[in-house]
Amino acid sequence: MSEQKLLIQQWWRKVELADRNNIFCHCRDCGEEWVDSQKDVACANCGSNNLEQIRCWQFPDG
Ligand SMILES: [Zn+2]
Repeated sequence: MSEQKLLIQQWWRKVELADRNNIFCHCRDCGEEWVDSQKDVACANCGSNNLEQIRCWQFPDG
């Protein structure tokens, strides 16, 4: 019931929010690349669902 526990919960909420809005998408069919906020999207260029999706915060800095 500590204040620290509350801070951790708030921190996780921020991570989840950032995660939702920063999904890097790469179309395996046409090579299109973009950043989306949703996981289940189709390629805007060719309509394919064959996508590679990477959360942006997983990219190393630099
Ligand atoms: Zn495509």
